Amino acid sequence: MFSPRPVNVFSYPLPVNNQGFSSGFCMISDQLYQALQDLVGKKNVSLERTDRITHSYDATQHEHLPEAVVYAATALEVQEVVRLANRHRVPIIPRGAGSGFTGGTLPVQGGIVLVLTRMNRILEIDQENLTATVEPGVITAELQRQVEQLDLFYPPDPASREFCTLGGNVAECAGGPRCVKYGVTKDYVLGLEVVTPTGDLIHTGGVTMKNVVGYDLTRLFIGSEGTLGIVTRITLRLLPKPAAKKTMLIQFGSIEGAARAVSAIIAGRIIPTTLEFLDANTLACIRDNPELPIVEACQALLIVEVDGDEDMLERQAETVLKLVAELDVVHTETARSEAESEAIWQVRRSVSPAVRRINPNKFNEDIVVPRSRVPDMIRALDRLSERYQVPIVNFGHAGDGNIHVNVMVDLSQPGMQETVDQVLEQIFQTTVDLGGSISGEHGIGTAKAPYLHLELDQATRAYMLTIKRALDPDNILNPGKIFLADDQATEQLR
Ligand SMILES: Cc1cc2nc3c(=O)[nH]c(=O)nc-3n(C[C@H](O)[C@H](O)[C@H](O)COP(=O)(O)OP(=O)(O)OC[C@H]3O[C@@H](n4cnc5c(N)ncnc54)[C@H](O)[C@@H]3O)c2cc1C
Repeated sequence: MFSPRPVNVFSYPLPVNNQGFSSGFCMISDQLYQALQDLVGKKNVSLERTDRITHSYDATQHEHLPEAVVYAATALEVQEVVRLANRHRVPIIPRGAGSGFTGGTLPVQGGIVLVLTRMNRILEIDQENLTATVEPGVITAELQRQVEQLDLFYPPDPASREFCTLGGNVAECAGGPRCVKYGVTKDYVLGLEVVTPTGDLIHTGGVTMKNVVGYDLTRLFIGSEGTLGIVTRITLRLLPKPAAKKTMLIQFGSIEGAARAVSAIIAGRIIPTTLEFLDANTLACIRDNPELPIVEACQALLIVEVDGDEDMLERQAETVLKLVAELDVVHTETARSEAESEAIWQVRRSVSPAVRRINPNKFNEDIVVPRSRVPDMIRALDRLSERYQVPIVNFGHAGDGNIHVNVMVDLSQPGMQETVDQVLEQIFQTTVDLGGSISGEHGIGTAKAPYLHLELDQATRAYMLTIKRALDPDNILNPGKIFLADDQATEQLR
């Protein structure tokens, strides 16, 4: 049984002519355009259609045209842009690299896309206190490379790390394969500098490992998807770089074997750095690549990596192989060099481009369930795939129960969008029924707003909206995100 599905924000028409926003916002006047130019310089404000198109989409398959694009270089500029936007009642949408998977940076109600990539300085790497202070536009992998040269380590590793920004990571609380052992972005943020929706500059947390002064505003902003404030400076905790790592590829004759192996490894008190899995549908997409070491009997596989001191690694790797030995294992291999480790990781990296071959349209969800419920979730996904006759390809961070569920369809087939809507709702409902969460790391944005009610009850959503209303009385900052645009409670924000 389906509960009635609220209107999907994506069914709204594209605001191509800057006309017809029913949101009550204003359009960009000549006066505002002039003021923005005076503030950030002529070349850093654009009303050009090409620039607007370039900033109209993210990694979802949806587009909404902004009215203007502004590139800010300092916190002061961000403050002033926000103040102008308030004065002129125009929405502001913060943007990093635009790699978000849930539409967080789409200007669904028009307005100004405020790009933060010019703020890309690593301000300090403090080797005594093991912290780094950065501007929000720093690319995640760039910080990682810089700190690793100093034998330090910044663990959160979204697969997009070569192009996404740390500001975007904070706003989405990004994760990645290594998070099973090291945690997600919120576990590394010590302090933030934030421009509030009304243009004030505030500071949360600090640079110390402990800090319990006042409310924990740092956590409030992390994962708030650019709806509560614009992050202009971030202080991050660093770790010593692990001395070595060991990568294992374990192939199974059944998905049950692989799923039970995940539970067995964790229950065996081993927390690997990464514990990635690929199911049979995923393997079918990459099996014909002769360079990948996948044996014929393999129906699911795990990539397990452990890190730490050399002598400890041997013991951990042996324990892992012992723990899974009886669970339908058909092949194992352990990398003895960096090159062999890379060859194993190539299996995982080849997945994303290959799954597109099944069907042209991909609905990529990042549900998370308690680790022990991974087998139940996989079984439920297989049942859904069979019932609705749509391919569902599952892979991801099994070690923390975070499964990337990819519903692969051809939307040009009649009625397919409706089928997808039903399948997604069933996936999210099952996830919540198993004690899980509808997003492990990609956030809600616009893509998952229609399903928020499945996980958060009315009182909880109302509490969140009360916070939004208090901080952003005119709903200037990134409107139409997280909460449904047609949600009655959201309407009260206007
Ligand atoms: C190929 C690919 C692989 C990916 N793999 C992963 C993965 O493994 N793990 C994972 O967690 N994610 C992954 N992602 C998703 C995405 O990269 C992350 O969500 C990332 O954190 C977004 O960063 P960004 O700079 O692109 O932000 P954007 O997409 O520009 O923005 C994302 C959100 O953050 C807000 N925002 C951006 N900057 C600021 C700021 N300074 N202050 C306030 N709000 C801000 C925006 O308004 C928006 O709501 C992947 C994406 C792609 C395309």
